[in-house]
Parts: sequence; structure tokens; C-alpha cells
Amino acid sequence: MIGCNLAYTRGVSSPEAPPPPADRPAEAPLAPDTLVVSAGRPARRHDAPVNPPIVVSSTFHGSGQVVDGDRAYGRYSNPSWDPFEEALAGLEGSELPGLLYASGLAAASAALSLVPHGGVLVIPRHAYQGVLVMAAELAAAGRFELRYVDVAETDQVIAALAGADLLWLESPTNPLLEIADLPTLVRAAKQLNPAALVIVDNTFATPLLQRPLEHGADVVLHSVTKYLAGHSDVILGALVTPDPGLRERLLHHRSIHGGIAGPFEAWLALRGLRTLAVRIERSQATAGLLAQRLSEHPAVRSVRYPGLAADPGHARAAAQMGGFGSVLGFEPVGGAAAADALVERLRLWTPATSLGGVESLIERRRRHANEPETVPEALLRLSVGIENAEDLWTDLRQSLANSQTR
Ligand SMILES: *Cc1c(COP(=O)(O)O)cnc(C)c1O
Repeated sequence: MIGCNLAYTRGVSSPEAPPPPADRPAEAPLAPDTLVVSAGRPARRHDAPVNPPIVVSSTFHGSGQVVDGDRAYGRYSNPSWDPFEEALAGLEGSELPGLLYASGLAAASAALSLVPHGGVLVIPRHAYQGVLVMAAELAAAGRFELRYVDVAETDQVIAALAGADLLWLESPTNPLLEIADLPTLVRAAKQLNPAALVIVDNTFATPLLQRPLEHGADVVLHSVTKYLAGHSDVILGALVTPDPGLRERLLHHRSIHGGIAGPFEAWLALRGLRTLAVRIERSQATAGLLAQRLSEHPAVRSVRYPGLAADPGHARAAAQMGGFGSVLGFEPVGGAAAADALVERLRLWTPATSLGGVESLIERRRRHANEPETVPEALLRLSVGIENAEDLWTDLRQSLANSQTR
């Protein structure tokens, strides 16, 4: 096992962060932007590979009684998963390895299995669409009771927590970038019911910008597909929990329901993770610049980005995050038709769903029939990549300029 011990207090390049001390003790925990590079490496032995190998085997040698820790069969474990699971756990601040899944939604399905039958699930009105559909379908089938909340309205969430078994949080939310008060909500959930669980979908922030376990959350979820893998070439998900009992339940669920990762995908995710810190540093800086310029543009009605001083989530995000991330939203003047035309005129930005890759993507969210109607029709969601910032702005500006003349 590679050590997962780190204790940092802020993420990469936070504008508020003071410079790090010049002389840290040699035994100081590694910073997260080191850990993304160094975690999950094979032991240092002469001629050992620097990178972990991909293990392509559905079964593992063994005879006699199968005991704990035996690999046995490829649905229970695969050495190809271990390096990523260890690295992610270290980044999120868990002593226990994470759990990789076939997709973010496979991870969400496993996480929702933690709600007791007939229990109560509190969930944000705005959250990842697939999670909302899954929860609604399970509730309609009688699996549990569902209570929707506006996650930025702390009092409203707390009022909904009476008798709740699981609080699902996403912050910033998809696609409106609302910010939940993580420490207050976790504390309230535990005070009202010590057995209640809190799960945080940390996909948008990544552990470099936000670490929900430090606020007392029980489980962190990632769509590894997005920033962690980072290249729009793999679908994967992950859960991390520091609680041995919960991890055991989740591991059992994964082994029996079978939503496992392929060895090649796990390798791609680890390869992508190596550059997470530099990708975020770059894309986040560009997102801040674009948000500012968009907010000053006459053809733009409103911008949503927690890094803007005027954003309703700004103070909260500044308090609990190490940076504001690389997703932003804006509504052009002229409604949905103008938004669609604007997207059509873009030449560098790729019109496509998803986020967190090296290439910049743009999408009008309400083009999806399942998107909640409380999401504005004209809202464009931008996932800022790592291209040259001025090239990205020039493309947006030419498209916005044309929209004004119509
Ligand atoms: C994409 C996404 C998911 C679902 O992950 P998949 O890997 O697509 O299954 C869940 N939560 C958030 C916030 C996402 O962006």
C-alpha cells in the first residue's frame, strides 16, 4: 500500500491563499498537487516499472478456502484499480482506498443503496440530471421517500432533514453553480439524526478545490469521467469513504451488482490524474477571466460563476473551497433561440455535453428533455479547457457580437 497521508488546507492557486512556508519539515505531508503525480506508484525496486501495470485477467490463482484479501475473481478486485483508488483516497483525505465503478452513475447507484428501504432521501432540486432521474424512478417505485431542496437555502435544507436517512449534496451544483454550506449542512444532518449519512458529489470541485470528508461527510462521489480523468476519453466513477463499515457495504454492492471498472479505463484515469493540478490551475484561471468579461458584455443577460464577487455563492465558495473551478454558466440576451445560434457560430468551443476535459465544451442545458424546468431555457454551461484563454475569448466574442446585430 502506498501511504495516503496528507493534510493540506487549501487547493491549488487560491487567490486568497498565503504563500507556502519556505522551509517545511521533510516529513511534512505531501501537497495535493504533488500527490496527484506521486501517489499510486509501484514500490521502488531496481528495474520495477515507474507506472503501475495494466492487469488483464478475469481470474486469479488460488485453491482452498477463499479468505479476505484474496483477489479470487475479477469482479471482486483487480490490481489495475488499486493505484487510482489509493491516490483518490489520499486526495480526499481517507485512510481507506476509494472504490472505482464503471461510471459516475454506477457509483451513484451504489451510494443510493445506502438509503434504507422506506427511508427518506433529501436531494437538491438542481443536481446531476442522471442522479435526479435515478432517484425519482426509485422513489416512484416505492424504494424511498424523496424530498427536494434548494441546496443554497440552508434553512430550507435543514427543515427538510427531520427524519432523513441520507442527505445528498452537490456543490457547486450542475448546471447553476449553486453553493451549499457544506459544514453547516453536515453538522445539522448529524445533529438531527446521528445515523444519517451525507454524500457529496464532488465532481465539479475535485479534491484539489474541496474536500467534503473534512467537513464530516460520509461518502464522496466522483464522476471520474470529468476532471479526474480529464481527457473526455473514458467513463468511470468512484466513491471514497473513511468509514470501514460503509466501505464494506459498498464493496459488497459493487461485487454483487457488478458495476466494475475495466483495467484499461482505470489506467487512463490514473494517467489523467497525473496532470489534474496543472489542468485545473490553467482552466480555472481562464474561467475566472471569461466569467468577468462575459459579465461586462452587453449581449449577456447574466453569468453564474462562484468566483465573481457578485455571485450569490461567492462568499460561501471562498470560505470552503480552494478555488472556484472551471465550469461557468451564462444566459445570452434573446432567449433559447439566441443561445442555440450563439453555439452554432462558435468555431473553437466544442458544442457537446459533459465537462472536465482539456477541450472547452459548451451546451444549452435545456436541450435535454430531463433537465429541470427551473433551469433557465437559455442557460449555456461552459466547461473551460486548457486552450489559450484569449483564443477562447475571441471565439466567444465574435459569436456574441453577431448575436447583437440580429
Ligand atoms: C457526469 C456526472 C455524473 C455522472 O457520471 P458518469 O460518469 O457520466 O456516469 C454525476 N455527477 C456529476 C456532477 C456529473 O457531472
